[in-house]
Amino acid sequence: MEPWTVRHRNPVADKMSDRRRDADRRRRREKPWRNWYERAAWLRRRAAQLVKQPLCERCLAEGRVVPATIAHHVERHEGDWDKFINGELASSCKTCHDSIEQRIEALGYDPGVDTAGRPVDPNHPWNQTRSETS
Ligand SMILES: [Zn+2]
Repeated sequence: MEPWTVRHRNPVADKMSDRRRDADRRRRREKPWRNWYERAAWLRRRAAQLVKQPLCERCLAEGRVVPATIAHHVERHEGDWDKFINGELASSCKTCHDSIEQRIEALGYDPGVDTAGRPVDPNHPWNQTRSETS
């Protein structure tokens, strides 16, 4: 690096986020949990969720009545079986689900919040700051 180059980024943080990005990329490529969606335990949970709430919850919140086709994990399970099978679900139409997923892809974290307004994704910057300062 030239002496006159001003470097605004923190090299340690860069290395950490590089590592996290590599791990994410690897996880996305492998996705060992893909076949979990075919397991009976999941199919039962999915069916139960869609019976409990047959309408897309996000559309409903915005005044639209749209049938849900997807049982969406409120908190991303990231390959964690316990979260996958016990985590909170929300009923969603495909349009809402795809737009949520696209937002997550673009941001690198889930911008969703729980009923208390707390971000659900541990990768959410709000959660990152809290865990690093505590
Ligand atoms: Zn919807």
